[in-house]
Amino acid sequence: MASISLTIDLEDPTERYEPDGRYVVMTRRILELCEAMHRRATFFVIGRVAEGAPRLLQEIAAKGHEIAYHSHAHVPLTEEDPARFRRESKIDKDKFEQLTGKPVIGFRAPRFSLTPESLWAVDALGELGFRYSSSIMPTNISLFGFPDASRIPCQWPNGLIELPLPVADLGPLQVPYLGGIYLYALPLALTRHWVRQADAKEILWTYTHPYDFDRTEKFKSMPHTPEWVSLILWLSRRVAEKKIRKVLSLGNAPPLGERLHSIFPEIS
Ligand SMILES: [Zn+2]
Repeated sequence: MASISLTIDLEDPTERYEPDGRYVVMTRRILELCEAMHRRATFFVIGRVAEGAPRLLQEIAAKGHEIAYHSHAHVPLTEEDPARFRRESKIDKDKFEQLTGKPVIGFRAPRFSLTPESLWAVDALGELGFRYSSSIMPTNISLFGFPDASRIPCQWPNGLIELPLPVADLGPLQVPYLGGIYLYALPLALTRHWVRQADAKEILWTYTHPYDFDRTEKFKSMPHTPEWVSLILWLSRRVAEKKIRKVLSLGNAPPLGERLHSIFPEIS
């Protein structure tokens, strides 16, 4: 059996964060799925969610899941102002910790936008007290890729641990096969094959969004996304929940924050 962690990026492209909005309803559906599959996951949450539905964070944490941070308003790091990032992240991290009573040690860049152009964020994350980041896509086929970056967990010079997005080779293409459009569109047999082929030192995880589970929304273009990708992602909502369940059945693993010690035992 493989070891695959479940991660959820908790933001909504409609940017509507009412206390009872879609993101709340769909997050509860994911919580039910976790309960049914005896899973604990890592939820990367944006600051605006904590403003709209602070009790949702408490609900997630109370069920034993990890709360991690996903920026204040889902602005890619490549478009972010470093001073604003530091200021907002500090406020949000403190708020998350007060709400849940647990330290927030994990960060994921919006759209995996930690690239050679946004490396300033590594120092900022270290200063803010994050212990790991899950922000790099070692691929040559995405707008925000970091081609040829390490596929196995590594440490930045300041000690921050990086858990890169799992990627597999398909000819010259480096395919981020365990999440998003690739997971939804490619056959499960191929996903299973790549999971089996993965280096034993890789940390495997899948990712999804609460809105991926909403089959009722009419088609709309997504921000910063080519039209054809928006369309495939919208069509994928019919299969998203089924695909995630199947991937999770390939193997269980705890939230990412609980796997750090097994990767770097010297870290307490
Ligand atoms: Zn996101």
